[in-house]
Amino acid sequence: MSHKLRMGMVGGGPGAFIGPVHKMAAELDGKIELVAGAFSQSAERSRVAGEGFGIDPTRAYASYIEMLETESNRDDRIDFVVIATPNYLHLPVAEAALAAGIAVMSDKPATAAYDEVLKLQAVVAKAGIPYGLTHTYAGYSMVREARSLCASGKLGPIRKIAVEYLQGWLSQAIESTGQKQAAWRSDPALNGPGGCIGDIGTHAFHLAEYVTGLRVTSLNAALRSVVPGRKLDDDCNALLRFDNGASGVLMASQVAAGERNGLRLRIYGENGSIEWHQEDPNRLSVKWQDGPEEIRHAAGSYLSRDALAVTRLPGGHPEGYIEAFAVLYREFAEGLIAWREGNANPLPATLPGIAAGVRGMRFVERAIESSKTESWVEF
Ligand code: NAD
Repeated sequence: MSHKLRMGMVGGGPGAFIGPVHKMAAELDGKIELVAGAFSQSAERSRVAGEGFGIDPTRAYASYIEMLETESNRDDRIDFVVIATPNYLHLPVAEAALAAGIAVMSDKPATAAYDEVLKLQAVVAKAGIPYGLTHTYAGYSMVREARSLCASGKLGPIRKIAVEYLQGWLSQAIESTGQKQAAWRSDPALNGPGGCIGDIGTHAFHLAEYVTGLRVTSLNAALRSVVPGRKLDDDCNALLRFDNGASGVLMASQVAAGERNGLRLRIYGENGSIEWHQEDPNRLSVKWQDGPEEIRHAAGSYLSRDALAVTRLPGGHPEGYIEAFAVLYREFAEGLIAWREGNANPLPATLPGIAAGVRGMRFVERAIESSKTESWVEF
């Protein structure tokens, strides 16, 4: 490749949360550059965002359809599209990009609902074009260390998994005040049927399966809407069973007042256990049944190859959310370049893709069903 990969963004307009994070992360390793976007459903706001991002004004489009049509006819067309919009647009934008022969990096959840993700899975398979999904937490080096430790068997058979994702920012009805991120997340038409379970429950679910390599086979979930008048769940508890017989507990809440981004994973094997917190991501606690507790630090020379492969800085220089995001972008960029060079299946197993998207949306659909019927359901 003689040029940086050219990225076109959908979403990320003025005041958006994750779009600007995608730009920072995608550009961190010098392999990608944001050159185009349909940043908002308003042409004017898209223009303003494009100006803020410093792109060529003619490449800030009024809609993603216009972006795909116009870019397809340029010699220096975009190489891939990043989707950073409310969930209901994930399927149509991904479908349109893939139909235009353009690769996709989508934010989670893969789609708004389970039937949609099955459709998208078929489209991705038929197109044979790279599709990545930004389950950000998969990009942390200490998550890769935890994954590698589980795969090594040193913890012994995994018996119990406890994953929690606790936030407090929706503990009041801020959607009725016009708060942008809360407004669409509380509207089933824009968000999909899973509120908190879809927004952050899917991250917790993905992390549990990603790190352990196990798969949930059945679950019993209770979803509630705590804040009066809210149409979607904002608090969720689920019991899980995994395919090796392990049990699990998943808690996700957006009404846990005082919590910020409290994602925490604990995994217990026969010989020992591990614990990782997203708010303190450069440390992994490893506790042995017959030995002392270890604190493993990011960038330690003793870490697994997988952890060191995604480490940029020497120990003691903290890496965080943007760097974790950037790890996924680096893997995606390398895969996209390999695909261009003829590798039909270039994305590494460490990068979440459509299979993770299907698992996540199945989790949401099963959790809603279980909660409705107040019973265990098969996955
Ligand atoms: P947001 O409301 O802050 O931003 C959404 C943006 O999409 C806005 O700028 C809006 O104008 C734009 N948009 C809406 N309709 C559009 C259209 N038709 N064309 C172009 N742009 C349009 O929301 P957010 O919090 O940034 O979330 C966006 C997505 O990112 C969601 O799917 C969410 O689940 C996901 N997300 C992922 C993470 C993560 O850690 N991976 C974190 C936050 C959000």
